[in-house]
Amino acid sequence: MISVEEARGLLLPACPPLEPRPVPIDPALGCVLAQAVVATEPIPPFTNSAMDGYALRAEDTSPAPARLRVVGAVMAGHHPEVAVGAGEAIRIMTGAPLPSGADAVCIVERTRMESDATVVVDVAVGVGDNVRYPGEDVACGVEVFAVGTPLSPGHVGVLAGLGLETVLVHPRPRVGVLSTGDELVEGSGPLPPGKIRDSNRHALLAQVRQANFDAVDLGIVPDDEQGLAEALERGAARCDMVVTSGGVSVGDHDMMKVVLDKLSGGTMQWLQVAVKPGKPLAFGSLVSTGTPVVGLPGNPVSALVSFELFARPALRRMAGHRRLGRPVLAGVAEVDLRRRRDGKLHLVRATAVAGVGGTVHVRPSGGQNSHMLRAMAEANCLVLLPDGDGVAAGEHVELLLLDADRMVPEAGGNEAGGLW
Ligand code: AMP
Ligand code: MG
Repeated sequence: MISVEEARGLLLPACPPLEPRPVPIDPALGCVLAQAVVATEPIPPFTNSAMDGYALRAEDTSPAPARLRVVGAVMAGHHPEVAVGAGEAIRIMTGAPLPSGADAVCIVERTRMESDATVVVDVAVGVGDNVRYPGEDVACGVEVFAVGTPLSPGHVGVLAGLGLETVLVHPRPRVGVLSTGDELVEGSGPLPPGKIRDSNRHALLAQVRQANFDAVDLGIVPDDEQGLAEALERGAARCDMVVTSGGVSVGDHDMMKVVLDKLSGGTMQWLQVAVKPGKPLAFGSLVSTGTPVVGLPGNPVSALVSFELFARPALRRMAGHRRLGRPVLAGVAEVDLRRRRDGKLHLVRATAVAGVGGTVHVRPSGGQNSHMLRAMAEANCLVLLPDGDGVAAGEHVELLLLDADRMVPEAGGNEAGGLW
């Protein structure tokens, strides 16, 4: 058996970042910059008002109250037609350019109209009050975002604010997912004897989508040599990676081994990883296209956990990410988490809840057998139980956080304050 780190060490080098290409900024959300973004214009582009009020000369407001002559008005999107002279003010709206001569804005709430032409300013304002200066947010010429930045909605906003229509990013990996096994059927019809419904393909496609990659459904392929070979080649031709489930265990009579060995030119690696669930794992590249193939075990929990541990980091590398894994948090076991010594790292499907003072409490989310997918559905984390006897309630554990949004009970309101 090899460790999870060793297995990743075999996969990752074979999954280099995809060739960068220009992508329109909207669909680039979640993609990773392959080129630094340098501002070719300032944000804000011009001096403007931060509030609705009066543009004026700060010195004219002290001592307050001060009586100023209103000589015009300027709205957002328009240009001030007159300048502000001594003892004068111009009505101004948020975002409107500051008229020349003015050096501050008094908010409307601190003023009174005495007549159509005169405003009384009740407080003394300082130079620059309620004024936004050009380049205050982003100065022209600076590197705004570095290579390797994953684009969040905020990044997309800044790119749009700079007038960029496309950015150079690593494209989303296209990931083909196929299920193998004579026992698998699709759809809602009655189950024929000995058959089961294919859950892995749908769950794996969902994992691919949730990670912001493009999912390609390659269907169910029965355990026959020609069908498998054709499906794998077809998938490899249109995808950056093919992920399969089933047929990679030691005792398997499945055709997967025969076919993958053949298509990879004998370079397929049949790994035994010291982890539970997810011990068997196949990895290699097809000779025809060079496309990496990750063969996950068929047991539903094993398939999903193996995707998490191996396929997802490899795909994140292809997508240009530098952070490949999940965040590891420290937590406290709410109940005993016992295990036996077997040389493997155990991953407990668990629920992590943020409690008083931010302490994270974890407990199993259900049955821990590798065919029990329900506990995986309920889990928001995987507790790492290193080889040994496990931990007792109240002891410290480490966990991989899968879903931060679910760290608070659905009903809301925990000691830490609940949802907000
Ligand atoms: P295998 O890895 O092919 O030996 O399969 C291990 C177990 O996982 C068996 O019980 C299979 O029936 C089950 N299994 C394999 N593929 C799937 C799938 N796509 N959906 C649900 N269960 C599966
Ligand atoms: Mg099978």
